[in-house]
Amino acid sequence: MVLIDGKKIAGEIRKEIADEVIETEKKLGRKPCLAVILVGNDYGSTLYVRNKEKACEEVGMRSIVQRLPEETTQQELLDIIDGLNKKDDVDGIMVQLPLPKHIDEATVVDAISPKKDADGLHTVSCGRLLQGKKGFLPCTPHGVIELLDRSGCEIEGKNAVVIGRSNIVGKPVALMLLARNATVTVCHSRTKDIGKITREADIVVVAVGKAGFLTADMVKPGAAVIDVGMNRKPDGKATGDVDFEAVREVAGYITPVPGGVGPMTITMLLYNTLESAKNNG
Ligand code: NAP
Repeated sequence: MVLIDGKKIAGEIRKEIADEVIETEKKLGRKPCLAVILVGNDYGSTLYVRNKEKACEEVGMRSIVQRLPEETTQQELLDIIDGLNKKDDVDGIMVQLPLPKHIDEATVVDAISPKKDADGLHTVSCGRLLQGKKGFLPCTPHGVIELLDRSGCEIEGKNAVVIGRSNIVGKPVALMLLARNATVTVCHSRTKDIGKITREADIVVVAVGKAGFLTADMVKPGAAVIDVGMNRKPDGKATGDVDFEAVREVAGYITPVPGGVGPMTITMLLYNTLESAKNNG
């Protein structure tokens, strides 16, 4: 069994990004720059934004963080995004989600210039992915594909099952696996007998948000199991959607939580920002 070390793989990619940042800085005459907008004081979001700032610094990128009060109006937020869209020295823009209830997330995400869509969640980026065109990929699904590739797990010709169909994880990861010539099945809350489907799978990606959802009896021996889930145990510790201790006895490849998909998400955000900066050069 291969334990896929997301921390190590993310570190390798960040090193590659850091090297390219040096080259890109020489061409642009400035550092590649990511702008992050945070609205409100949500504890988790504040922590994620701080980690993004730190990650930028680590790879030699500049970051701008706009921290806005909870009561910021949608129009105020749209005006700030418009200002960042127009700044030549800002390559990537992302708005930390979730937003307060009085703001429409889809409107805000689509207000970001498609050329600076660091999260890869803009309707234009999603459309390009659907059509198989080059573009910004959403970070977590892109991280899943990198984990499989860099662990030597073949995708082409394999049966892949994705559990979950959200716009940020399930649907895009399914499209990316399809683009890599896997035969893809997507399961969701209305799917009957998910175990019967996953037992046929060479690759299972679980993005449900329920601790212990994927049990050992649902996994074909030797299959690759990628756990996107991020749940809290009663003691506050992070846990995924996979019954890790039991499934690791059956799987051929498995990601732990923490230390699997998690470290990849910010890494692919840095990747998108660098790609945008290179396009600006
Ligand atoms: P989401 O929007 O809540 O979507 C969950 C999906 O799971 C939905 O498609 C839902 O089906 C499906 N589902 C729920 N209960 C199910 C069941 N009993 N059987 C089968 N499918 C079921 O969540 P998300 O944003 O995709 O995130 C999924 C998980 O990944 C969460 O734990 C989240 O915290 C984690 N996550 C981690 C990262 C990271 O960086 N590691 C990034 C993003 C998300 P329906 O569509 O039918 O409702």
